[in-house]
Amino acid sequence: MPITLKHVNYVYGQDTTTPVHALEDVNLEIRDGEFIGLMGHTGSGKSTLIQHLNGLIRPTSGEILYNGENIYGEGYSLKELRSKVGLVFQYPEHQLFETDVFSDVCFGPKNLKLPKEEVEKRAAEALEMVGLDESYYKLSPFELSGGQKRRVAIAGVLAMQPQVLILDEPTAGLDPVGRDEILGQVRRLHEEKGFTIILVSHSMEDLAVYARRLIVMSKGRVKFDGSPREVFAHFRELEEIGLAAPQVTYIVHALREAGFPIETDLITVREAKEAILKILKDV
Ligand code: ADP
Ligand code: MG
Repeated sequence: MPITLKHVNYVYGQDTTTPVHALEDVNLEIRDGEFIGLMGHTGSGKSTLIQHLNGLIRPTSGEILYNGENIYGEGYSLKELRSKVGLVFQYPEHQLFETDVFSDVCFGPKNLKLPKEEVEKRAAEALEMVGLDESYYKLSPFELSGGQKRRVAIAGVLAMQPQVLILDEPTAGLDPVGRDEILGQVRRLHEEKGFTIILVSHSMEDLAVYARRLIVMSKGRVKFDGSPREVFAHFRELEEIGLAAPQVTYIVHALREAGFPIETDLITVREAKEAILKILKDV
């Protein structure tokens, strides 16, 4: 189900003396099955934007459509929308509070007043999707590693059976093992279960590998929207708004300037490695 934003503006504290214009004329179409990376400097409006997508924040002006329907239209169920568009907040483990992993994941579907068997079935499926088997069910969330806690939090959202999964900096504060664990899970959810994914991240390397489309926010506006290759080609402009391209992009540019015959639109370590090996073979 596509999500459409038309001329969305959002102002925090509109009636105060210090209003903050957090989103300015945002126009976007998010299509089924996309894997979108959302990037932008701190304060550029990423978190504000994603909270609009499931109706947690209402635009000050503009429209949001889900599958062509205005989500603030008469009779529209925001509650249903929130289960279809799942949002995993930053540091979601702060919201784990039940005594054990299984109960925690049951919390959302239980609130939907589903029968007990259905609640438990959904929780078991969601935990399986994030790779946590029955041996974890009775553990306290506090006995888990950082990556595992976050997987429990993601399972809590998956148990609502969303179609779109939005993750706000899901790897923040994790060690490299936890990071790979989470990103690997997210990729599997996309590839094997067909979820539409919106991933907020500060890691250009991760976005280059995982996302098929990048949306770059700057000062509340959409600055770039395109494939990772298209967006990272603007690396000088990205630097001006406090961002950068993946490290390898700089390396291939340096090689090119040094006279090596290498394409400069390479963005992942893997493709840069192949290109460099090819040059080495040819000299
Ligand atoms: P990001 O997620 O990209 O860091 P945010 O969406 O959190 O950006 O913030 C966008 C702008 O809105 C920033 O200027 C931020 O200070 C402001 N802002 C965010 N949340 C609030 C709030 N609850 N009240 C007032 N201003 C806010
Ligand atoms: Mg944020």
